Amino acid sequence: MTARVLDGIKIRDQIFSELKAEIARLAGDGIRPGLAAVLVGENPASQLYVKSKIAACEQLGLASWMHTPPASVTTDQLLGLVRELNRDNSVDGILIQLPLPAQVDTKRVLEAVDPAKDVDGFHPVSLGRLVSGRPGLVACTPAGCMEILRRNNIQTEGANAVVLGRSDIVGKPMALLLMHANATVTICHSKTRDLPNVVRRADIVVAAMGKAGYVQPDWIRPGAAVIDVGTNKVTDAKEVDSLLRNFPARLQKFREKGSVLIGDVHPDAVNTAGALTPVPGGVGPMTITMLMSNTVKAARLRRAPSSVPAESAQSTAGTR
Ligand code: NAP
Repeated sequence: MTARVLDGIKIRDQIFSELKAEIARLAGDGIRPGLAAVLVGENPASQLYVKSKIAACEQLGLASWMHTPPASVTTDQLLGLVRELNRDNSVDGILIQLPLPAQVDTKRVLEAVDPAKDVDGFHPVSLGRLVSGRPGLVACTPAGCMEILRRNNIQTEGANAVVLGRSDIVGKPMALLLMHANATVTICHSKTRDLPNVVRRADIVVAAMGKAGYVQPDWIRPGAAVIDVGTNKVTDAKEVDSLLRNFPARLQKFREKGSVLIGDVHPDAVNTAGALTPVPGGVGPMTITMLMSNTVKAARLRRAPSSVPAESAQSTAGTR
């Protein structure tokens, strides 16, 4: 069996076109949703991420601002900036690009963000809303995984779902979203015993561990849906040879480039899974997509609450 490919780029394009229609409706009410990004210091990976997020805003016609305090910034200075952004009515979403420098109290800064503008869904108020099934802003990567399942008609109701990883930004919110979507959820972590057999019971596997190719093809129940959140840059030629031995074109690309992105699931799982997100091109594009969706949602909830569709007023499983 070769798994159906769950194409994140296709879903991103669908959601972008839906967002464009909603942005046009909001423009009719004189509202232009806006995202303020805070990028501290000069970490190249963070610069690249923020650049892509600003580019997505521009593509959709959202307002965007980039604040770039130096790496020497203090917690108090960042708190001051966050308060200013909280007060600015044209800012609907505040994004604090992580990681922050060691001298900054990251939790205090994230908790200072107005929950109504918490488009990353990291604020304890957002997490509390998610736990209790109230409407709110949901962390982008897990929200994107739910869109992949929903838009590919993968049944969650009654399904056995196994989430590998329990981080605050992926594993935990993912498990909650699946539970709200009526799956029976098992959360695994580094102390879980007999992981292969736990995974073998799953109709849906979500892997978010940060370990290249860790989940073996024979752990996947034939026909299961696999959402691979992992994005691991692998440079070791021996490791890549073993991971991509059945993918000569990708192996060739690695030889030219010197690195390759590998998910947490072994690429050979394509032969056991029923459906699988590719890496890259699966979950990756969904994270920025849901950030855009959350920014539009935050604008709608804050500035045009009367236009909130009933569905999003009741559910945290969808993010529309
Ligand atoms: P994280 O904070 O490092 O959490 C990793 C989780 O995996 C932890 O809960 C850890 O368990 C668990 N784990 C580690 N080794 C394990 C093992 N051998 N067996 C079972 N569980 C194990 O990582 P994260 O931020 O959630 O990210 C996870 C992956 O997703 C990374 O590859 C990251 O790059 C990727 N990611 C991708 C996107 C995207 O847009 N595509 C977005 C976010 C993250 P303990 O809690 O016991 O330590």
